[in-house]
Amino acid sequence: MPSQTDTEPAIRFDNVEKRFGDNVVLHDLNFSVAKGDRVTLIGPSGSGKTTILRLVMTLEEANNGYIYVDGEPLTHEERGGKRVELKEKHKNEVRKRIGMVFQQFNLFPNMTVMENLIEAPVHVLKMSKADAIEKAKGLLEKVGLSDKENAHPLELSGGQQQRVAVARALAMDPEILLLDEVTSALDPEIVGEVLNILRDVAKETDITMLIVTHEMQFARDVSNRVLMFDGGKIVEESDPETMFTSPKEQRTRDFLSAVL
Ligand code: ADP
Repeated sequence: MPSQTDTEPAIRFDNVEKRFGDNVVLHDLNFSVAKGDRVTLIGPSGSGKTTILRLVMTLEEANNGYIYVDGEPLTHEERGGKRVELKEKHKNEVRKRIGMVFQQFNLFPNMTVMENLIEAPVHVLKMSKADAIEKAKGLLEKVGLSDKENAHPLELSGGQQQRVAVARALAMDPEILLLDEVTSALDPEIVGEVLNILRDVAKETDITMLIVTHEMQFARDVSNRVLMFDGGKIVEESDPETMFTSPKEQRTRDFLSAVL
């Protein structure tokens, strides 16, 4: 018999509201991402896509509603009709299952590449240093940077730094990988080297992915669902083929004609 978590989506937003001051960015947002799904969020700038990733990563907290990971509440749960904040210990446990790659790499600049890769496995997962190093070496090979383990991030190109950031996220064996505009800060000629690594990750693993990108070909190659956002709401959702070739909504058509 499947355990409860086998039947739960990897991510579920339940009436989520997020405001910054008076600016309501997400209003009663509901959606789920099934385990193993690769979902791309598209939509105009300011439509709330990055906020959604940051909520899942617990870098932001919802003002209302609930977010579940594998059926477990992320930061708040409903108890006796009330919305109750969960303890930091619980949040840390759920957070361990989630990896994120940011637009600006966000590597620790004062650490070597190897130190960046083993930091969280050793301190958060309590992996032995030897095991963490062995795993990191395998990941550096995968991203083509075996010769850079002793380099510092600022000695690397943007593309190389982003490949390290992908390896660092994978070092935690995440169940969910969040990709936030991971190629936006890169020169056009090196965008491909990062996207190809992520295409491989998508092919070779069953990690659930939630992706924000303007690289529509990448979205088409990697995702099985695309959600079009506008003003913090889902305007349209479909498989990538339908979304990119015959979208139904005028707002989606306008957006795609501007970016494609
Ligand atoms: P997108 O990723 O679709 O471009 P964002 O999620 O980054 O959209 O932003 C949605 C809205 O939330 C924008 O109006 C933005 O200005 C606002 N916003 C995002 N983060 C913050 C923040 N830390 N403080 C105040 N406003 C924010």
